[in-house]
Amino acid sequence: MATKNILVTGGAGYIGSHTILQLLLAGFKAVVVDNLDNSSKVAIQRVKELAGEYRSNLSLHQVDLRDKPKLEQLFASIRFDAVIHFAGLKAVGESVHKPLLYYNNNLIGTITLLEVMAAHGCKKLVFSSSATVYGWPKEVPCTEKFPLAATNPYGRTKLFIEEICRDIFHSDSEWKIILLRYFNPVGAHPSGQIGEDPRGFPNNLMPFLQQVAVGRRPALTVFGNDYNTVDGTGVRDYLHVVDLADGHIAALSKLDETNIGCEVYNLGTGKGTSVLEMVSAFEKASGKKISLVMAGRRPGDAEILYASTEKAERELHWKARYGIDDMCRDQWNWARKNPYGYESQESAI
Ligand code: NAD
Ligand code: UDP
Repeated sequence: MATKNILVTGGAGYIGSHTILQLLLAGFKAVVVDNLDNSSKVAIQRVKELAGEYRSNLSLHQVDLRDKPKLEQLFASIRFDAVIHFAGLKAVGESVHKPLLYYNNNLIGTITLLEVMAAHGCKKLVFSSSATVYGWPKEVPCTEKFPLAATNPYGRTKLFIEEICRDIFHSDSEWKIILLRYFNPVGAHPSGQIGEDPRGFPNNLMPFLQQVAVGRRPALTVFGNDYNTVDGTGVRDYLHVVDLADGHIAALSKLDETNIGCEVYNLGTGKGTSVLEMVSAFEKASGKKISLVMAGRRPGDAEILYASTEKAERELHWKARYGIDDMCRDQWNWARKNPYGYESQESAI
C-alpha cells in the first residue's frame, strides 16, 4: 500500500508535534504547514530525532494558512490524502480582548484551507474542535448530542468552523469530515523531548503548574474554591497528549470508511479531576511542593466538565490509556529536561 500523505496544519504546536510523531511511527508521511506564531522549529527537529528511520517522511513549510497562493502551490506539488487541521489561536482571554485577531486567524485561515482543499479534490478533514463548544453544560458527562453554546470569541471560532464543516458536507457529499472535541490535553511525550511550550503567560493549568515547579513563577493561582465539587475547585477531563495524538490516527482510519459524512467525537477520558487533585498528583510526580494562592473564580469558567467517551470508543475504536499519574510524570519529565521549553536550543538554529 502506498504511503499516505497527510497535511498537518499547526503541526509544530503542542498537540500537532505529538500527532506528527505518531503519524510517522504509524507509517504516514506528514507535511506540516505552520507560521510558527506559537511554536518552534526545534519541536520539528525533536520529532525527527524521535522518529528515527521515519524522519525523512516529515517536512515543514513555514506558511500562514491565510496565504492562499502559497497554500495553492503546496497542494499543486503534493497530493494529500487527508488534512489534520490544528492551526489556530487558542487563548480564551486574549480572544475576548482581540476578537478580530481570532476571527481573522481562525476563520479566514480555515476557509482558505477548505477552499484550496476543494479546488484540489482533497475532501478528507480532521478538525481540532474543543469541549468549549458545550459552554456550561447542565449535566455531565457531556455527550456529542448536548446543545452547543460558545461563551467567548475563541469558542465561537470553533463553533462557526464546526457549522461551516456541516454546511460544506450538506452541499457536497464527497466531503468526509471528523470534528474532534478535545477535553483538556496535558502531559508530554514520555521521552521528555517534546511538550507544551506556550509563548508568554500560560493560560492553562498544567503549563502554569509546571512553571511554578521549575521556579519560573512563585505560586499557582487557584481560580475558585467555592464550586459545588469534591473540594470546591473546578473539575475537568484531563487527557494525555499522546492518547489525543492517537485519537487522530483513529480518526484518519475512520475517514477511509464509506458514508462518514460530517461526524463529531469527544476525545477525553470520561473522568473528572479537580484543580487540587491535579496539584497533588503533580506534587507526587515531581517531588516539588507547589505554593498556592486562592483566588476568585475566573470569569467564564464552567464548574464541572467531562466527556462521555462512548461514541469514540464505539466508532473510532479509541480509548485513552493513560491516567493522571502518567500525565503528571510525563509533564514533569518534559519540564525538568526543558525548564525554558525549546528556548535554549532555539538560538542555535
Ligand atoms: P498550539 O498553539 O501549540 O498549536 C497551534 C499551531 O498553529 C501553532 O504552532 C501556531 O504557530 C500555528 N498557527 C496558528 N495560526 C496559524 C496560521 N494562521 N497559519 C499557520 N499556522 C498557524 O496549540 P495546541 O494546543 O497544539 O492546539 C492545537 C489545536 O487544538 C488548536 O486549534 C486549538 O484551538 C485546539 N484545542 C486545543 C486545546 C488545548 O487545551 N491545547 C483544547 C481544545 C482544542
Ligand atoms: N486553573 C487555575 N489556575 C490557573 C489555570 C487554571 O485554577 O492558573 C483552573 C481553571 O479555573 C479550571 C482548571 O484549572 O478549573 C482548568 O483550566 P484550563 O485553563 O487549563 O482549562 P479550561 O478551563 O479551558 O478547561
